[in-house]
Amino acid sequence: MAVIVQKYGGTSVGSVERIQAVAQRIDQTARAGHSVVVVVSAMGKTTNQLVDLAHQITSTPSRREMDMLLSTGEQVSIALMSMALHELGTEAVSLTGAQVGIVTEAEHTRARILQIDTQRLQQHLDKGKVVVVAGFQGVSDRDNLEITTLGRGGSDTTAVALAAALPADTCEIYTDVPGILTADPRHVSDAQLMSEITCDEMLELASLGAKVLHPRAVEIARNYGVPLVVRSSWTEDPGTKVISPAHTPRVLQGLELVHPVDAVEFDTDQAKVALLRVGDRPGIAARMFGEIGRQEIDVDLIIQSIHEGNTNDIAFTVGQEMLKRAESVAHAIAPVLRSEPQNSQEAEVMVDPQVAKVGIAGAGIIGRPGVAARMFTALSSVGINIQMISTSEVKVSCVIDAEQCDRAIEVLCETFELDSSPVALSHVPMQEQPAVRGAALDMKQASLGIIGVPDRPGMAAKIFQTLAEKGICVDTIIQSQRCRVVDGLPRRDIAFTLPEADLEEAQAVLADLASTVAYGEVVVNRAIAKVSVVGSGMVGHPGVAAKMFSVLASSGINIQMISTSEIKISCVVDAEQGVKALQAIHAAFNLSQPQQMAVSH
Ligand code: ADP
Ligand code: ASP
Ligand code: MG
Repeated sequence: MAVIVQKYGGTSVGSVERIQAVAQRIDQTARAGHSVVVVVSAMGKTTNQLVDLAHQITSTPSRREMDMLLSTGEQVSIALMSMALHELGTEAVSLTGAQVGIVTEAEHTRARILQIDTQRLQQHLDKGKVVVVAGFQGVSDRDNLEITTLGRGGSDTTAVALAAALPADTCEIYTDVPGILTADPRHVSDAQLMSEITCDEMLELASLGAKVLHPRAVEIARNYGVPLVVRSSWTEDPGTKVISPAHTPRVLQGLELVHPVDAVEFDTDQAKVALLRVGDRPGIAARMFGEIGRQEIDVDLIIQSIHEGNTNDIAFTVGQEMLKRAESVAHAIAPVLRSEPQNSQEAEVMVDPQVAKVGIAGAGIIGRPGVAARMFTALSSVGINIQMISTSEVKVSCVIDAEQCDRAIEVLCETFELDSSPVALSHVPMQEQPAVRGAALDMKQASLGIIGVPDRPGMAAKIFQTLAEKGICVDTIIQSQRCRVVDGLPRRDIAFTLPEADLEEAQAVLADLASTVAYGEVVVNRAIAKVSVVGSGMVGHPGVAAKMFSVLASSGINIQMISTSEIKISCVVDAEQGVKALQAIHAAFNLSQPQQMAVSH
């Protein structure tokens, strides 16, 4: 008989009736002869209410006391769920995170799981009991019994970690939607259910704002090959399977910590094209990449940085054999893209025929502010200047001089303790994977632009290291192409997005740092939204980016920033236009059609 972990979220246990209904479901699984571990969240909006209570007393509650407070929510649910099971005649026992042996690091409010001692759990299972575990919590030190929590939404992580540790035959995440949908149904009413999604796609979606699964849960599922499914608590429908790649067995010690970075990736077959001083108005990126797409040129990284005055820079990389064509498109279109129709200053085309892309990839980059900074520091320690940076939460890619690629790979493997060989990125599309699987919207970010950062090795490292030391997680980082000489120094602008809640602290850090790094102004925008599309089939499919940009343009939406990874394209737009942008993109990629295995683009 199988070992099954089932996790029920807040809404699913939001009332006595719902707890009873869920208990029925658990009871059926147990009666079928399976060993069942149940993970539950706090009832309904309990966690939010507890946060509000704390804020009524202080605006700066201690992290330790927050954990003490928030962990009570789950404790209520486990006891009630066990009682409901008892009423059905099923033997069940509730256990807190500490009792179940979920040992975490000592980082209050965002602890990562180090190990799970499954002995106690196993003993109860052996006696035929259903074990009901409090999600979202652990204990940092078995001697001092310090209660920790895993970060908001962390019950998913508890469930998948338990499934990895036991190990379980399957981990089922029960929630208030039928599974993973092509977009958040609260914003897009005709979002469709996906029957399956790869872990990599889900990681991008989850970290881009699809709250249905905690990204760290997906990370564990991927790293440990946990069979994972997301389903509705109210129906028997099969839901969405989250598919893990074939995995190499890993030790459970340091569960969430051992490998923040899984791989160093590189691509030496890249050339860079940049258009400087293009207009900052809707439709510019669409014109550019529309033409590129029509010529069947497959672009890889695309970045558009913050603008100075009313102009933008757009840069992209292509395979070297595509460069000639890409370059002639850029030259042909540059006059049309100038900042103002009446402005005589044309957009300028800049080409570098031989650059390399090096990247680090790993789900462990999420929520660990130090990882990108470590990469920049490592590169600068061997004198490598970074020309372009593009990040997603699970990847950081840097474009550097082609000649320095080997050195970069070497220093990155050393820094992240990877003995496995670096991965050469492939341009071959993943057959049968849709170009666009789903879309997401993140409204909780702000953007910050640092104008005039000296263009020499070590600057990005210094800035992001200092932010990381304060625990500030930046997301999309974009370094501009335009280089200006001010005070005798060539300078570039660096922009990034970050959680809005961290904005003030980031501003304070940057104000302090200005004396050492000597940059100009810091430009802040709180009112942004990030819209993204994700799909593994995007690789080798020219035209996906162009389509996204043209949809935004035809909805009159201006794109402030663009950043891409191999399987995602994100655009920062005005906050007020976020939902409209998501809806337009969702419709344009035919995501409203049931099961979009072959997406037109
Ligand atoms: P739970 O309490 O069960 O953990 P959450 O509220 O954390 O539930 O996550 C489920 C919610 O995630 C859904 O109600 C939905 O509004 C939201 N959501 C966002 N993006 C997606 C998506 N792509 N697919 C499904 N749900 C999504
Ligand atoms: N109760 C916690 C929260 O609301 C954890 C969870 O539900 O996953 O964030
Ligand atoms: Mg959740």
